Amino acid sequence: MIERRFDPTTREWRTFATHRQDRTFLPAADHCPLCPTRDPSSPGEVPASSYDLVVFENRFPALVADPPTPPLPSTPLYPVEPARGATEVVLYSDDHDASLAQLGTDHIRRLVDVWADRYRVLGSRDEVAYVFVFENRGEVIGVTLEHPHGQVYAYPEIPPRPRAELEAGMAHLRRHGTCVFCDVVARERADGLRLVTQNDAFLAFVPFAARFPYEVHLIAHRHATSLLDLTDPERHALAELLETVLRGFDALFGFPLPYVMSMHQAPTDDGPWLEVSHLHLEFTPVHRTATKLKYLAGSEIGAGAFINDMTPEASAGRLRAAVLGAR
Ligand SMILES: [Zn+2]
Ligand SMILES: [Zn+2]
Ligand SMILES: [Zn+2]
Repeated sequence: MIERRFDPTTREWRTFATHRQDRTFLPAADHCPLCPTRDPSSPGEVPASSYDLVVFENRFPALVADPPTPPLPSTPLYPVEPARGATEVVLYSDDHDASLAQLGTDHIRRLVDVWADRYRVLGSRDEVAYVFVFENRGEVIGVTLEHPHGQVYAYPEIPPRPRAELEAGMAHLRRHGTCVFCDVVARERADGLRLVTQNDAFLAFVPFAARFPYEVHLIAHRHATSLLDLTDPERHALAELLETVLRGFDALFGFPLPYVMSMHQAPTDDGPWLEVSHLHLEFTPVHRTATKLKYLAGSEIGAGAFINDMTPEASAGRLRAAVLGAR
C-alpha cells in the first residue's frame, strides 16, 4: 500500500508506504545489493561487473510515476492522494568501502552532473513540484545499506522545510527587496566568523542560528537558483568545495562523520520562486562530540524549537582546523 494523506491540523502531506517495512536491512558486505554483479547467476541491483555512477528507481519506492488509487476515500477534512512522484537511488561508486570524499574531484564533478540531470528530468514532469537531492550517511542516521549512495525524491508538492524557507524568503524580499540568502552570503563572507572554507563560486559556513553543533551549509556566492543555473566552472567549484568539506568532516573526529545532506533548489511547480530560490546544500551531522549524539527530543520534536549546546562560531573554528588538517 502506498498513499498520501493530508494532516489538516498542520497542513502537511505525509506519505505511507507499508511495503518499506520489508526492505533489506544492513546486509553483510558480501551480500550488498548495490555492489556490482560478480556472479551473473545472482545479479544485484546493477547487472554490470563494474560501474562509475548509477541511478535507478528505489525497489521499495515511497512515490511512483503511476501510483495505485488509494483504497481510502478522500474527504474535505482528510484529503487522500495517490503517492505520485519518484524515489531514485544514486550509487556514488562501485567501491563498497569508498566515501564521497575519497573519490576525487573529477568523480564528484560527475556526481554533480548526475544530480543536475535528475533535477532536470524529474522536474520537467508535470506532477512534480519539488526535486529533492539528499544523502543519509551512517548507521546512526538510520541508513539501511552501507554502500555509498544518495537519493533523489520527486514530490507532488513543495515539502514543509523548503516551503518554510521559500516563504521566509518571500517575506524578506517584500520587506528589503533582496534575496535573504544573498544577504547571508555577503554577511558571512564579510565577517568570516562562521566561515569553514570557500572558493571562487561557493562558500561553506556554519549558519548563524544552526540547529546542529556541526551543521554546515554550502551555498553559491551568486544567486544561482539550481544546479542547472551553474556554469561549468561553477559546477567544478561545487565539486571541489564538497570534497574539502567532506574531508574536513571525516577529519573532525577521525571517523566518517554520519550526516544528512539536503540540497535546496528552486521548486519545479512553475510558481514565482526564482527570486527567492538560492542553491545550497545543508549538512546536518548528528554528533556533538566523538562519542555523543544530538538527539531530537522534547523541544525539537514537540515544539520544533532547536537547542544547540555549541556556538556556531566555536564549531566553525573546529571545522576550519579539521579542513586545514585534512588538506
Ligand atoms: Zn556494496
Ligand atoms: Zn540569492
Ligand atoms: Zn535550505
